[in-house]
Amino acid sequence: MESELESMREYFKSGKTRSVSWRLSQLKGLLLFIKEKEAEIFEALKKDLGKHPVEAFRDEVGTLIKSINFALKGLKNWMSSEKVKLPKIAVLSSAKLVPQPLGLVLIISSWNFPLGLSLEPLIGAIAAGNTMVLKPSEMAPACSSLLANVMTTYLDTKAIKVIQGGPSIGEQLLQQKWDKIFFTGSALVGRIVMSAAVKHLTPVVLELGGKCPAVVDSFSSSWDKQVAVNRIAVSKFGNCAGQACIAIDYILVEKKFASNLVELMKASIKNMFGDNPRESNTIARIINKHHFLRLKNLLSDLAVQKSVVYGGSMDEENLFIEPTILLDPPLQSEIMTDEIFGPLLPIITLDMVEDSIEFINSKPKALAIYAFTKNEQFKRRIEAETSSGSLVFNDAVIQYAVDTLPFGGIGESGIGRYHGKFSFDTFTHHKAVTTRSFLTDFWFRFPPWNGQKLML
Ligand code: NAD
Repeated sequence: MESELESMREYFKSGKTRSVSWRLSQLKGLLLFIKEKEAEIFEALKKDLGKHPVEAFRDEVGTLIKSINFALKGLKNWMSSEKVKLPKIAVLSSAKLVPQPLGLVLIISSWNFPLGLSLEPLIGAIAAGNTMVLKPSEMAPACSSLLANVMTTYLDTKAIKVIQGGPSIGEQLLQQKWDKIFFTGSALVGRIVMSAAVKHLTPVVLELGGKCPAVVDSFSSSWDKQVAVNRIAVSKFGNCAGQACIAIDYILVEKKFASNLVELMKASIKNMFGDNPRESNTIARIINKHHFLRLKNLLSDLAVQKSVVYGGSMDEENLFIEPTILLDPPLQSEIMTDEIFGPLLPIITLDMVEDSIEFINSKPKALAIYAFTKNEQFKRRIEAETSSGSLVFNDAVIQYAVDTLPFGGIGESGIGRYHGKFSFDTFTHHKAVTTRSFLTDFWFRFPPWNGQKLML
């Protein structure tokens, strides 16, 4: 590993990866891989996660095509230096920000969107002109193998390597010297990444998870209620079966609206996934037995079981869990303290919907907060009084696909941001370059001082 990484550092020093043409060719190679191997990608996502091809296209293939095209279009502009203004005293001087690649970077990714979460940062690292190692998750082996064995045939492997493996390979990689580490995964491993980075003072991006709440106001219009409920149901259950870092983890709603919300949710789930969702091929499967048992265990507490108002059936052999709604499970139960990461949806009732702000603020900062409301004053309060990586009014999950918005967490949900130009910036050093003229200078700058205070 060490000698391979040394060759990659040498390759970076050669300057090859800095040119526009190299960056464009690699982005185009990535695009070609995704387009030519679409069927294999669908097959791998089916094998690893039981994802329906339509979902796989929407969340991974299609989103990646969009992101690569966005980078191809913006690249030359992103790579150009930016002139900056200097204070008046710096007459005849100039300054600019010069974007430069960082060097050799490490990307460690998660299994739930095994293509998207590996390639979205890779696009940024390529666009910025780095050399890079990607370690996808061992828990999605078909996708991981596709990235290592097929994708790399479309790319310059002197600069872009995919190393497969689990935690022990991850730990070996973390012992090496990197110019940046970009990690997507749990806060637990995020802490291991950050500790390892200390040794070489390596900057890190940590894309972590947590519990994302959705506040649902008591709408009077049945149209608004239905739109909100459909959006909640599809983003929770039709998105890798809730195995998404920005999935709605739980809902906060006023007591008076709760039973109506439950009924509407039941109908919406039936509309989308049929009377027997187990037989529908539109809901992704749980990634593996370990996570299946973890989710099953969240329902094992008697008080939690009693709170199930819809669903709850499981099929261990096929790693299937039915969309499940819980009404007011105990707040101290694991389902309300740990990230759920699956198709279980607790609804917590409050006296007033405004109480949700205090509820949210009593928890670690979320990757995303969702609020379904038409009350402008309430919106302004949520925006001003809560803190989260992103905030979406009246929808969920869609922020992931917006190139012009930064994606990332805050506090326990992560450090740093990416997507679109933010990905380029994440893998770039914007060097401050100043040029002075020899023609002018000010006498009061030089000793002996005359007591006059100098303000630049
Ligand atoms: P994880 O932390 O277990 O694993 C993530 C990656 O780290 C994998 O590639 C894994 O092999 C590697 N790894 C595990 N142990 C390691 C170690 N000791 N040293 C080095 N590498 C190690 O997380 P996961 O199960 O893959 O993902 C679930 C978590 O990730 C959830 O908390 C979820 O919210 C979060 N997540 C966040 C985002 C985001 O964009 N913010 C996206 C997806 C998932």
